[in-house]
Amino acid sequence: MNGKLTILVIEDDKYISHFINISLKNENYNVIMASTAAEGLFLFSSHQPDILLLDLGLPDRDGTDLLREIRTFSDVPVLIVSARGQEKEKIAALDYGANDYITKPFHMGELLARIRVAERTLLKAQTDKGDDTFTCDWLMVDYVKRRVFVAENEIHLTPTEYKTLLLLIANRRKVLTHNFIIRQVWGYEGGDSKSVRVFMANLRRKLEKDTTHPRFILTEVGVGYRFADE
Ligand code: CA
Repeated sequence: MNGKLTILVIEDDKYISHFINISLKNENYNVIMASTAAEGLFLFSSHQPDILLLDLGLPDRDGTDLLREIRTFSDVPVLIVSARGQEKEKIAALDYGANDYITKPFHMGELLARIRVAERTLLKAQTDKGDDTFTCDWLMVDYVKRRVFVAENEIHLTPTEYKTLLLLIANRRKVLTHNFIIRQVWGYEGGDSKSVRVFMANLRRKLEKDTTHPRFILTEVGVGYRFADE
């Protein structure tokens, strides 16, 4: 990737979009603004942005619905901008493959930090393909031999735990909802988030040094999990 990254912002609130536009340009991003879903979809196709910032409450169409359509043809990192009281929509958007979310009102510094995470995810995706191992701090996964080491000691994971760990690592830094994890690991819809919590607690006990302050498997309260590798 060379030159400036292009960020498409789909947001109908004039004050917020003006503020985002100025702040992102200050950070040397190339910024494209849209105030409706229709305009956003058009600009997405014509400009192929590197990152998408998507407001959920748009005048002409539901943001989650637009995201679902975009996900049928693009893996672009998507950062959801949601308002308070849009919990359901936010979780639906993460289910449909949004990477992360930020809730209004937010500080610009927080938004920029989330964008930098998305940016690193992009770079990672370009260099990541074909790795035989994953290493971070005391955790090492050997994809070829399907073995997992914690502080150089091999640990035993059940096939489901191993599958979950691979899912978390492949989607690291991204918020994964309970539903998403159930669908990917167990293959059905609408499972019980409580059983996911019990399952994750077990996985944490095997991987983490301090399960009350996890290093890798972070909880996103009321939403799901995020695997941290930074
Ligand atoms: Ca809005």
